[in-house]
Amino acid sequence: MSGSSRDRVPQPIRGNAGATDPGPRNIERDLQNPDLSVPPETDSGTFYNLKFSYSDTHRRMEEGGWSREVTVRELPIATTLAGVNMRLTPGGVREMHWHKEAEWAFMLHGRARITAVDQEGRNFIDDVGVGDLWNFPSGIPHSIQGLEEGAEFILVFDDGSFSENSTFSITDWFAHTPKDVLAANFGVPEGAFADIPSGEHYIFQGEVPGPLESEKVSAPNGTTNFSHRMLEQEPIRTSGGQVRITDSTNFPAATTVAAALVELEPGGMREMHWHPNNDEWQYYIEGKGRMTVFAAEAHARTFDCQAGDVGYVPFAMGHYIQNTGEGPLRFLEMFRSDHFADVSLNQWMALTPQKFVQDHLHASQELMNSLHKDKRPVIR
Ligand code: MN
Ligand code: MN
Repeated sequence: MSGSSRDRVPQPIRGNAGATDPGPRNIERDLQNPDLSVPPETDSGTFYNLKFSYSDTHRRMEEGGWSREVTVRELPIATTLAGVNMRLTPGGVREMHWHKEAEWAFMLHGRARITAVDQEGRNFIDDVGVGDLWNFPSGIPHSIQGLEEGAEFILVFDDGSFSENSTFSITDWFAHTPKDVLAANFGVPEGAFADIPSGEHYIFQGEVPGPLESEKVSAPNGTTNFSHRMLEQEPIRTSGGQVRITDSTNFPAATTVAAALVELEPGGMREMHWHPNNDEWQYYIEGKGRMTVFAAEAHARTFDCQAGDVGYVPFAMGHYIQNTGEGPLRFLEMFRSDHFADVSLNQWMALTPQKFVQDHLHASQELMNSLHKDKRPVIR
């Protein structure tokens, strides 16, 4: 019995290369990273780390929820975008605040009420559910509250050095303003501020609010929109899966962050490609996948990613993603850009004189015949 379970512990041996690893070793992590533990022979060269799991982050605990972040401090290569995973209890409030960075979000579980007011004095109050997005532009004040079932979401900020712990919060500002100034500002006696919090709430437990209609605030300057129902978009379907792409062309508020929600069936593959506009920040929502990133100069490395991980692909580097799990693989590809763009290796080859391509690769006629000229932004 123990012999057979020991046999299942993978050893770092590939053909004639490698040797057993008698330990110490973290077998759980080795099992999660088979392509680091025993890399494909094609992997080569000194490389950046391109993966960080939310399971390896500090979780900030508050009454009303929690948050944890993957920023440039956790994953140093990830300079363009930072991500915060947040949970709010029913009624839990991420308090009224703002920050320098734009905030893009994808709802993972439950429902939440979001509010914002823009610089024109237009307001925005909406309820969002699974698969809905919001985008609060740089400097625009906003809030999030869990509804009856609470909420979990991923927030993506358009600067890798962002920290959720250094936002401008309404309670923090009140706590650090002299009470006579507050009194003068609002034209009320100082006593009106007797009970203000002595410091930042950040997240606090509130009460589940009433229906959206009952919470509408009349706004003489009108209303604006910062949300989008991503799952209501018709997906682009291909043989191995489907994708929905959301950027400023169909979600005008998202002027600095573009996204693709990719869903791969078991065995499906996001084909070999690269992006001509910026780095790619990935968030794995469901399943398991593997990705090899090609960095020129004979450099390539393969990473295994799964639900809860952040992956990263530096600008213009070639890559693919395979579904290596038993079930579906779902992940977000995110870019600090006003538009989504990618270049397909397959399409590039198909649209170049065929003899010329063959001279490069000594490619068989079978390969040449398989090339596709249509834009398949996604999946084989
Ligand atoms: Mn925010
Ligand atoms: Mn990509």
